[in-house]
Amino acid sequence: MPNEIIELALNQKSNDDRVPVLLTLADQLLVMIGKYVPDSSSRRAPAVRNHVAEWRSRLRVEPGPDALSAVADQVVADCETLLEKVRIDRADREAELTDLMRVLREVVNTLRGDARKFEAELQRSTTVMESMVEIQDIRELKRQLSREIVTLKQTVARREETDARQCELLSSRVEALQQSLKSARAEAATDPLTSLPNRGALDVALREWIARAARTSTPFTVAMIDLDDFKRINDKHGHQVGDRVIVAASQILAACLEGGDIAARWGGEEFALLFQTGSTARARERLTASLGRISPSYEYDLGGERRFVTFTFSGGVTAWAEGDTPEAMIKRADKALYSAKRAGKKRIETRSRSFLHALVS
Ligand code: GH3
Ligand code: MG
Ligand code: MG
Repeated sequence: MPNEIIELALNQKSNDDRVPVLLTLADQLLVMIGKYVPDSSSRRAPAVRNHVAEWRSRLRVEPGPDALSAVADQVVADCETLLEKVRIDRADREAELTDLMRVLREVVNTLRGDARKFEAELQRSTTVMESMVEIQDIRELKRQLSREIVTLKQTVARREETDARQCELLSSRVEALQQSLKSARAEAATDPLTSLPNRGALDVALREWIARAARTSTPFTVAMIDLDDFKRINDKHGHQVGDRVIVAASQILAACLEGGDIAARWGGEEFALLFQTGSTARARERLTASLGRISPSYEYDLGGERRFVTFTFSGGVTAWAEGDTPEAMIKRADKALYSAKRAGKKRIETRSRSFLHALVS
């Protein structure tokens, strides 16, 4: 409440003058009470001011001390009632403010975490809230604030919906990318003509198999296969038929695999196989059986004319030994293959690590 300069006229000393002085004092106090009733906290402020005006005029017009005294009693009682109402209003106001704080906290909690994402909408809300500061009536302020909270909550909900949609979209894109990465990887590891793993894939597998064999001391076997006289097949039947022969050979070799074995196209008319069995004799048997399954003639059509082609292959087999490297194993299998070629082709030879090599390695 601002300080009021009240003209008390206290310099008037005579007893007769006391009544006007006290009346002036009462009048000024009533003015202060009228001003003290806060506009914002009490809806009764205009009515109270009317009362004050009425009391002041009654104090001015009452003729004698008795009548004045009765009016004074009445004014004091009314003022007490009024001040009590102001006190209650203040308590109400405090309760309203506490409520307001709770509401504000709710707004902050609603926005927490998402605030950065939709600054534009929040900026608008902030501006609205800033302008609310101007509102004197706390109930009106609460009403506006509640409206704003509803808007903000809707904004948050919309944003969450958009985020969820985007998230779904992104995860399906990621899934699609993972899928194409997977097929790209598979494609990169596959020979396009035969659909067998290619040399790169076999290199990787052979390293893994050697590491596992070293860990578990469980041997396995490697075979190198080369089609016999393939150049002649190409020359006689053409490159396209040569390709068909490579595919037929790949199918024959794949058919001799057992669970976990791998057959790969090493390049040209050569294949490499990894057998889980550590027995070169067993691997040789299975490859020899495959040789026996090759058809004596494969028919094809050349400009309406029926033509026939067949093929054979030679192979070399070796088994893993302690300390082996991929290169050493392939080299030994190649040597066995060379022996098979030299021995007349269409056969499988084996080669184990030399006793001397095993001693020095
Ligand atoms: P050997 O019995 O000693 O193995 O004789 P070969 O004729 O099979 O050996 P050589 O290595 O001299 O010939 C292999 C031929 O295979 C030469 C090459 O033109 C042919 N060739 C390599 N890759 C392919 C291919 O993808 N398709 C076809 N049609 N021919 C191929
Ligand atoms: Mg060759
Ligand atoms: Mg060959």
